[in-house]
Amino acid sequence: APVFKIEGLKAAIEGKEILKGLDLEVKGGEIHAIMGPNGTGKSTLASTIMGHPKYEVTEGSISLDGEDVLEMAVDERARAGLFLAMQYPSEIAGVTNADFLRSAINARREEGSEISLIKFIRQMEGRMKELEMNPEFMHRYLNEGFSGGEKKRNEILQMLMLDPRIAILDEIDSGLDIDALRIVAQGVNAMRSEDRGFLIITHYQRLLDYVTPDFVHVMMQGRIVKSGGPELAQRLEKEGYDWIKEELGIVD
Ligand code: ADP
Ligand code: MG
Ligand code: MG
Repeated sequence: APVFKIEGLKAAIEGKEILKGLDLEVKGGEIHAIMGPNGTGKSTLASTIMGHPKYEVTEGSISLDGEDVLEMAVDERARAGLFLAMQYPSEIAGVTNADFLRSAINARREEGSEISLIKFIRQMEGRMKELEMNPEFMHRYLNEGFSGGEKKRNEILQMLMLDPRIAILDEIDSGLDIDALRIVAQGVNAMRSEDRGFLIITHYQRLLDYVTPDFVHVMMQGRIVKSGGPELAQRLEKEGYDWIKEELGIVD
């Protein structure tokens, strides 16, 4: 089972420090939720883990099974099993959903063991059915003209197909209606396994009604300031974040 560890992580964008010493450990079989006010660095954390070049790590470490993630190039991180479902997935003109996914899968495989086209199509059709996606999305250009909900479903499709070891979902629930939310949650629940850990970034408790996390962390001002179980998410939903600020003497 994977062990994913972040220690004392500091990261900056354009010289401005956003992550200010963040610690987190996610093991296989666990679902961790990160909640926190807007602008607190949640997406920065996700992008930094994946190696987005805009973010500069100035201190701390990230490791997967003891391997130094910060030493890995972006594609090596993906091959090591890190996956990010993005808050704002980008559109890629001229590349179909099927082409994109097939090359992403093959990029994670040894040369000579690429997935066959027939097998790939069959898998993709099956997964799309589970997600109640229109089959035409297979041949549509990636995210082009997709609605917000369709983009999010498509991110989950990628997760199902890529079978990651650590799956990070960044506000996958925003912009989803209740049916889409339930389908997305089903996708996550079906993928729960000892061989996979989840990091679910969410602004609302809503998704956590369908996917029960083992741990809930509150992120504020670039750090995890409080951790607990699912009851913490429920309290945040009811009372907001002010009580935590008061408790910890955070001024903003
Ligand atoms: P969250 O996901 O918690 O809402 P973000 O990680 O998106 O927060 O943003 C954290 C902080 O980083 C915010 O203050 C935001 O304004 C800043 N930030 C994000 N992206 C950029 C960027 N490209 N350039 C400058 N500042 C940025
Ligand atoms: Mg935000
Ligand atoms: Mg964000």
